[in-house]
Amino acid sequence: MTSSALESLKHTIPRPFWLDTDPPGPSRERQIGEISADLVIVGGGFVGLWTALLARQRTPDARIVLLEARTCGTSASGRSGGFCAPSISHGVSNAMKRWPKEAEQLIQLGRANLNDLQLDLQRLSLEVEFERSGKLNVASTPWQIEGLRALEHKYQRMGIDCTFLEGAALKHYLDSPLYSAGLFEPNYALLNPAKMVRELRRACLEQGIELYEHSPVESLQAQSDHLLLHTGYGSVRAAKVALATNVFPSLLPQLRSTVIPIYDYALTTEPLTPEQLRAIGWEKRYGIADSGNQFHYLRKTADNRILWGGFDAIYPFASKLDEGLTQRPETFVRLAEQFQQTFPQLDNVAFSHAWGGIIDSSARTTMFTGSTHDHRVAYAMGFTGQGISASRFAAATMLDLLAGQDTHRTRLKMLSRAPVRFPPEPLRFIGVSLAQRGLAHEDQTGQRGVFLKALDAFGVGFDS
Ligand SMILES: Cc1cc2nc3c(=O)[nH]c(=O)nc-3n(C[C@H](O)[C@H](O)[C@H](O)COP(=O)(O)OP(=O)(O)OC[C@H]3O[C@@H](n4cnc5c(N)ncnc54)[C@H](O)[C@@H]3O)c2cc1C
Repeated sequence: MTSSALESLKHTIPRPFWLDTDPPGPSRERQIGEISADLVIVGGGFVGLWTALLARQRTPDARIVLLEARTCGTSASGRSGGFCAPSISHGVSNAMKRWPKEAEQLIQLGRANLNDLQLDLQRLSLEVEFERSGKLNVASTPWQIEGLRALEHKYQRMGIDCTFLEGAALKHYLDSPLYSAGLFEPNYALLNPAKMVRELRRACLEQGIELYEHSPVESLQAQSDHLLLHTGYGSVRAAKVALATNVFPSLLPQLRSTVIPIYDYALTTEPLTPEQLRAIGWEKRYGIADSGNQFHYLRKTADNRILWGGFDAIYPFASKLDEGLTQRPETFVRLAEQFQQTFPQLDNVAFSHAWGGIIDSSARTTMFTGSTHDHRVAYAMGFTGQGISASRFAAATMLDLLAGQDTHRTRLKMLSRAPVRFPPEPLRFIGVSLAQRGLAHEDQTGQRGVFLKALDAFGVGFDS
């Protein structure tokens, strides 16, 4: 542990930068007494909020209720990196590897979804610092560079615009002694996730959606002609229910072993000056990610801090959900050291905020949707670290399912086939630890070990 890394964390605020600088609006009242609704949405992150808004568009007169256990967006959504991908499949490679037959369609739908999301932001006047500024993927080892070349070829096959960068051309995009190649894709967006939550929430309220906070749904019971949700202080009779509860214990117990919590961490620097940004060759506003299995993601905030996150992906035994685990000093020190190694030009820059959040990791690294109770209950989960844009697509799919509609979305195998379940403990912890060790070994040597190859053969993956 270097003393300059420790020094850089001396005044760090232990809260998500986004939520600290753009706190959610005043809390909404909790749900009390008995009410009824045409549609109840459980969970007020990106998935729940999009579901409410898209439902309002489809059914202008419906009574729509959203129940959030805490405050909207204070879980994964408001803590995320804000990378808004032109993908619903956790990237092009993942689509081509896992769903080769529908990969082309998945890729096109992912790109159309980002366009539609941008149109919705305009239509609803949501001010979320959305910028379609591109993404730079960088590589440091020979096998990572080979991987970027392979990605370039995949992009070319799928008609996706990209530019391979080396030497002086790369330095013009990013000047770090660690990276020797890059692939720039112009079609990628960034946004401020806390503003996104706040604005989606505002739009919901303006459109007459009844939003209750501090109202955890404790149970969901199917009655003959309705569904009954208990919230502790009250209950809601619903014709239809959309579950947008992410990594939290599902109200459908059969879904609980389909995702595990992976804790992901990030830092933001103090605002950087134009000279400091020039020194690292990063003058434009694209986001960046490096290419290891244990990867970093970095982007600028509106006031030119660098958000630097990723690398450690922590799975706690027994899938423990604990806000206390979102502060992890050893990870923050590691991130600070890696930042200094990546940008020695910025070695005296201090970090303003340090936080963690929980990713709902599925064994297939993509979201999935489904319905039960004769299309009266729908769910979407398993976003695995890429849920900002996919949440909108998932919301539309849940509404298709609840309406009993057969659409291009509900027909997708990626969405309709549930991923492999995680085994019970202690096998789960042992399996995740072996996979993580294998991924770290592959990052160091370029060699994929026997355990990961066995998982590959069963279509099982691990990512954050
Ligand atoms: C640190 C971090 C960085 C990330 N970076 C990115 C990124 O750059 N790009 C990207 O695309 N994705 C990223 N992600 C993933 C992305 O944030 C998520 O996929 C997305 O926000 C999921 O939205 P959600 O609505 O499903 O979940 P959440 O935001 O977790 O919302 C679920 C809500 O449901 C509520 N809830 C749960 N159970 C109940 C109940 N029984 N009753 C009532 N309410 C309930 C919870 O309180 C919570 O508010 C990141 C995630 C993390 C943690």
